[in-house]
Amino acid sequence: MHRDGHDPENIQPEDILCDFCARPTWAMDVPSIEGHHGSILCSDCLDQAWGVLVGDGAGLTGEDTWKCTMCLETREPPWWESPTQAEARVCRRCVKQAGGALHKNRDWDWQKPPSD
Ligand SMILES: [Zn+2]
Ligand SMILES: [Zn+2]
Repeated sequence: MHRDGHDPENIQPEDILCDFCARPTWAMDVPSIEGHHGSILCSDCLDQAWGVLVGDGAGLTGEDTWKCTMCLETREPPWWESPTQAEARVCRRCVKQAGGALHKNRDWDWQKPPSD
C-alpha cells in the first residue's frame, strides 16, 4: 500500500508500505511481493503467514466473505490475519505463490521455512 499523503506523481521507496506490517519494506530492502492494486506482502510477514497456513495447517477460519488483500478474491478460509493492520488478510494460495516466487529469486536469500 502507499503511505498516506504520498505524491502520486513522485512515488518514493519510502511511500511503499507492506500492507500487513505497515513498514516501508522497499526502502528497508526487505524482499516484498506485490499483489493486485499495489498491495505488498513483505518476507517477514510471509514468514509468519507461511508458518501458520502452510507449516501448521492452521489459520483464521469461519469468515467466508473476506477478500484477500493480495489477490482481491473472496477466498475460502483459512486466512492469515495481520496482527497489526485491521482487515489485512491473505489467503493460503497467495502465501504459497509468494513463497514460491521469493524462493526462486536469486537476488534474495529467502528460504521456505521448514514445514514441520
Ligand atoms: Zn510486512
Ligand atoms: Zn489471495
